[in-house]
Amino acid sequence: MEITVAKKLDALLKLQAIDSELDAIIKVRGALPEEVGDLEDEIAGYQTRIEKHNQDLLTIEEEINRNKIGIKDSEKLIKKYEEQQMNVRNNREYDAISKEMELQALEIQIAEKRIKEGYYKIEKKNEEIQKTREVFQERGKDLESKRKELDVITSESEEEEQKLREEREEAAKSIEERLLKSYNKVRANAINGLAVVTVRRGACGGCFNIVPPQRQADIRERKKIIVCEHCGRILADVDELVLEEDKKLKRGRDKS
Ligand SMILES: [Zn+2]
Repeated sequence: MEITVAKKLDALLKLQAIDSELDAIIKVRGALPEEVGDLEDEIAGYQTRIEKHNQDLLTIEEEINRNKIGIKDSEKLIKKYEEQQMNVRNNREYDAISKEMELQALEIQIAEKRIKEGYYKIEKKNEEIQKTREVFQERGKDLESKRKELDVITSESEEEEQKLREEREEAAKSIEERLLKSYNKVRANAINGLAVVTVRRGACGGCFNIVPPQRQADIRERKKIIVCEHCGRILADVDELVLEEDKKLKRGRDKS
């Protein structure tokens, strides 16, 4: 079944009316949805950072433990060498064992230094974790209050929005895809979100540039889809009512 141009234009006007209502609802929410999204990202970043720090802590602790075991092993060796030294046969053997003992003593020193460094690193890490946690909690509170704020605003218009979305879906069904695509494109580029307008007081309802009388006559016929030559918006109809009001106003003025 062929849909007449007039029907298409009516469907477009209806879609535009619904979208404008939806725009108004979303405008009330302002920058809140974006702010909530940004805060969520930021907080997720802190969470990841804390997890990374905790992972680092484990690595440092493991290293400390390894060094502690190393010290114990060296101490055992030294004890063993001490016993061996009691039973040496000559000075050369005694000296060789002494060298080994010195070496192990040195190993212990190095391990102790590493352990000390490890504890220092842990201290610094904990400070960083603490700082990150503080920011994390602070921003968490911000997020909570912003979410609440948004929830209040959203819940106020939730039902209406849902209803409009359903109506929108229904209205869009009777518009061919190609037309819908260009409608969405014009709407996305228009500051006021208008893609379909009427001619009011002889001017385009979107950009307010004058529409010549012959063009107005064509628009009034509704035989084809006509777009504003200045802004590209679809001119769906001519608002006669406004024209009548203007005439009355003018007559009223003329009389006085
Ligand atoms: Zn225009």
